[in-house]
Parts: sequence; C-alpha cells; structure tokens
Amino acid sequence: MSKYQVNSKGYYGPFGGAYVPEMLYPNVEELQTQYLQIMEDPSFKEEFDQLLKDYVGRPSPLYHAERLSKRYGATIFLKREDLNHTGAHKINNTIGQILLAERLGKKRIIAETGAGQHGVATATVCALKGLECVVYMGEIDIQRQAPNVARMKMMGAQVVAATSGSKTLKDATNEALRDWINNPVDTHYIIGSVVGPHPYPDMVARFQSIISKETKNQLLEKTGKPNPDIVMACVGGGSNAAGMFYHFLDEENVRIIAVEAAGLGVDTGETAATTALGQEGVLHGSRSILMQTEDGQVVEPYSISAGLDYPGIGPQHAWLFRSGRGEYVSATDDEAMQAGLLLTQLEGIIPAIESSHALAHLEKMKFNGDETVVICLSGRGDKDLDNYMKYFNL
Ligand SMILES: *Cc1c(COP(=O)(O)O)cnc(C)c1O
Repeated sequence: MSKYQVNSKGYYGPFGGAYVPEMLYPNVEELQTQYLQIMEDPSFKEEFDQLLKDYVGRPSPLYHAERLSKRYGATIFLKREDLNHTGAHKINNTIGQILLAERLGKKRIIAETGAGQHGVATATVCALKGLECVVYMGEIDIQRQAPNVARMKMMGAQVVAATSGSKTLKDATNEALRDWINNPVDTHYIIGSVVGPHPYPDMVARFQSIISKETKNQLLEKTGKPNPDIVMACVGGGSNAAGMFYHFLDEENVRIIAVEAAGLGVDTGETAATTALGQEGVLHGSRSILMQTEDGQVVEPYSISAGLDYPGIGPQHAWLFRSGRGEYVSATDDEAMQAGLLLTQLEGIIPAIESSHALAHLEKMKFNGDETVVICLSGRGDKDLDNYMKYFNL
C-alpha cells in the first residue's frame, strides 16, 4: 500500500476523512462501501475504457514540444488533455462517475459548477446516458459564463441559480448538498475535483489516473524509459495533477511539481496560492489545507483562471505537500498569461489559462540539459479567448 494513497479509513496522513452532516451519511456511506467493488468490476472497466477511447478520444497524445524544449534546455513533453472531447481532463472523471451512478441505480445527477467547465462535462455525460441533470451555479457565475450555461442547456441540463451568499461556487455547492440530502435514494452527486468527503478524492484520482498510466507507456515507447525526471501540473482542487502524479508517486526519483495560482501575487490578498498561505481545516467535507482567516472563515480566492480560483486543495495534495513528496509552487496571473502566449507562439497550441500556470513555472527552473519533463496540458484555451484578448489587447 502506498503511503501517498488513501488508507482504509479515508485519510492521507492527517488529511481527508468524511466530515458531512448526519443527513448525508447514508449517501456517502453507500459510495464508500461500493465504489471500489464497482470500479474493479470487469464490465465497468470495459465500458469505461471503451468510452474513453471512442467518445473522449483517448489515449491523449504525449507530444514532444521541440521548440519549447529548446527554449528551456530540457526534453519537454506535453500530455495533451486539451485534445479530449469537451476540451479538458474533466471528462475522464464525469465518464467514470456516470457509469458508477448507473450501477448504483441512480436516475438523477446533480453537480455544482463555478466557471461552468465541470457543469458542461457533467451535462455531457448525462446526455450521453439519458439521465436527468441538475447543475447548481451561482447567480453571478451564470451571468459571467453565458456560453457554458448555453452548452449545458443545449444538452438538456437544468441550470439552477444559487442566489444566497456571494452567489458563486461555494453557494452552488451548498445548494447541491441540500438537494442531495433531500434526494438521497435516486440521486448521485458528481463532484468535479479531488475534493469532498471520502471516497470522492480517491475515486476522482483513480478516474484521472489514466493520465499518468498512458504517460508511462508513451514515455517508454518514445524514450525507452517509463519515468521522466519531473512531472508538473496546475492545481485548483487538484484533479488533473492527481491524475498526472498518480503512477509516479511511489517512484521517489521522479520530482513532482504542483503549480497553484498566485493571482496578483501571494501577498496581495488577491490570490489562490493555498499551500503558501493556507492552514489546516475542513472544507467541503474533508480535512485539508485551505485559506482562512484567524477565526476560520474561508477567504475568497482570486485567480485570472476560473478553474484555479479555489480556496483549498484536495487532501491528497495537502499530504504530498506536508510530507515533502511534492513541491508546491505558484505562478501569478501575469506569469501564466505570458507562458500561455509563449506556448502559442512556439508550438501553435493555445492552452487553457489554468494549464498556463504549470507552463509558467518553467521560467523559474534550472535544467542541466538532459532532464525529461512531462507537463499536463489540462485543457485548451478556446474558453479563455476573451481573457487573452483583453490581456494582450488583441
Ligand atoms: C477545472 C480545470 C482545472 C482545475 O481543476 P483541477 O481539479 O485542479 O484539475 C485545470 N485545468 C483546466 C483546463 C480546468 O478546466
């Protein structure tokens, strides 16, 4: 058993667990007792693999970025999650969870979404399977993210506005939890990252672990060795990173680097750099590290990239950080935007601004010329064009 994976009680070191209101115990317990059995069933694996191949378009390529490599003096590969159906890694998880929901006999799916990316990935798999879909979204986010709201509606999802509090992601999460409490029997709640009560962090990491599984095979084929020297990924809640790191966690000579969003800067108060500023606490059902005030109020995070604009990290990341296995760093809005433009100009690939944060860290690294680096390109930049246009005056 890996010391970096969840233990039988649902913990990663001191982090994890399932801190939920008593009313939610039955739902969470049902998942805890069934998820591994269902995921290990051969018919589940077969359907999951088939859909990842024919519907998502996997395996995603591992691309040797030659001009980027030359620029930094290392051999850099990009794991192209941006080429997946719907444009990011999130679909790996929603495919897995919809298959699980079917096998649990659920007829109705709920989800929460901030920028709408997870809502779209959820609405997509509900259309695929013909299941009812309700997505909770803050009223303000609904106004800010009109194209994603339209996508969800086209796919038949009902988008419900969360009108309490700051009318953003955390209020949408509260609404989704309330719905789940009221509909415990027929409804599955699809969480979009490696956060939430056990077993969600482990379940989502397992669905995303396809990223590092493929990477090992592809590296072996391309370089003769299955392991790179360094793997890197951006971290919001941490699902693309968890998938990118998964099969390298016990390979102690592989360096693991996670890049958080520093926003305007770690010390500006406008940031999402959780490990730099955060403290232990409970957020969304698990013990982890989160940004909070002295009296334990969650601090509003800020990042130019909506997908990294989260005040915590998943419990496995908290443990990788605390144990020293992972290096947790951050990149500012400016650093990420410049890195996104650089990749576009050197390789003809417009990355999601989230992914650009991982790329930005290359500027701060020193290479001796023979390292192999794999960076998870978590998503494509189409959704971010408005932001790129404004930032660069295009
Ligand atoms: C949502 C999103 C992220 C952040 O989520 P994680 O769970 O940290 O992976 C990163 N990149 C893209 C493209 C996203 O859509």
